[in-house]
Amino acid sequence: MSLPTLSAASARAGAVLTIDLAALVGNWLKMKSLAPAAETGAVVKADAYGLGAARVAPALAEAGCKTFFVAHLDEGIALRGALPQGRIFVLHGPNPGTEADFVGHGLIPVLNAPHQVAGWAAFAKASGKPHPAAVQVDTGMTRLGLNPTQFEALRADADTLKAIAPCLLVSHFACADTPAHPMSRQQIARFAEYAQGLPGVARSLSASSGILLGLDAQFDLTRPGIALYGGNPTNAAENPMAPVVTLSAKILQIHHAAAPQTVGYGATHALPAPTRVATVSLGYADGLLRGISNPEKPVFGTVLGTYKARMIGRISMDLAAFDIGEVPENLIAPGDSIDVIGKYAGIDALTEAAGTISYELLTRLGPRLFRVYTNGSAP
Ligand SMILES: *Cc1c(COP(=O)(O)O)cnc(C)c1O
Repeated sequence: MSLPTLSAASARAGAVLTIDLAALVGNWLKMKSLAPAAETGAVVKADAYGLGAARVAPALAEAGCKTFFVAHLDEGIALRGALPQGRIFVLHGPNPGTEADFVGHGLIPVLNAPHQVAGWAAFAKASGKPHPAAVQVDTGMTRLGLNPTQFEALRADADTLKAIAPCLLVSHFACADTPAHPMSRQQIARFAEYAQGLPGVARSLSASSGILLGLDAQFDLTRPGIALYGGNPTNAAENPMAPVVTLSAKILQIHHAAAPQTVGYGATHALPAPTRVATVSLGYADGLLRGISNPEKPVFGTVLGTYKARMIGRISMDLAAFDIGEVPENLIAPGDSIDVIGKYAGIDALTEAAGTISYELLTRLGPRLFRVYTNGSAP
């Protein structure tokens, strides 16, 4: 892409999402250093949690990541286009009749339920050779995976085992973000028991928060997602990950407003004193979740890297408002930006205000945001 095109597109956009690929790679290396005996993969489902799998996955591959996870077959097909090398696992497994698409694009299914095992085995048998697959077992989540009875049935079926040639045993923690939760110990023990039934097959239990539980949770391959994107993988400590995203919204209009003038739908915010109010081009249709406009937990945008601007009033579909009374008037004008995810509000502050989690905030970041990729500070 030539520079004029990039800046023209950026000039048209209402808001710009900047993704620091160097910080993202740094987060992956941190996850890797925390699990020294395991291979560290990367979960890039939902378009790399909204950040753009086509840019994120190659950056991680260049840093040494060899194994990737997506949820849907179509995500895997798209990712294969960006990533000629590397293993790609598809967590949801094959819908009936799609087995050939997996093989055609070099994707490995995670087989979660008996009908997926049967379909994949039938496909492999018909094609006359084994087709390696991952097998998921349920250790307590009751979400995806074979239960003990179904797993025993698979173990007893030599033909099927030969056809699906298991290359990875997968399960998932329910409560790993709460380190002391007794359920994690139980799931580790159950997973180890399943693994004894498939000796020699690589084992993968931990997502981001599981990695922080320590060595006995890490097994052979880890699957971090949220930690790579700067989300906090633990409830027990401050966020140890480096921030990856900045979200800057352009100012469309500045009002000199009198008190007690109100701002936005529902007239929920009455200005306590005269101030200047900036309306920015960013709303819940862009992923600025409406619940973030929570008077109990105010959040602050950043102007020019230093000034704080409080978000006020309700977030609308395409717009939000900030009190810019503390920004010197000569320093700010329509067309300038307010960092909504930035120095004064990271993704954790926004999700806390909205009563949700960083996963939801990131994966809702919408297609109208103009995405810019940097390696450190320089675009
Ligand atoms: C989404 C997902 C992950 C990644 O989880 P994070 O908490 O984002 O690290 C890993 N494994 C499975 C099965 C998943 O669905």
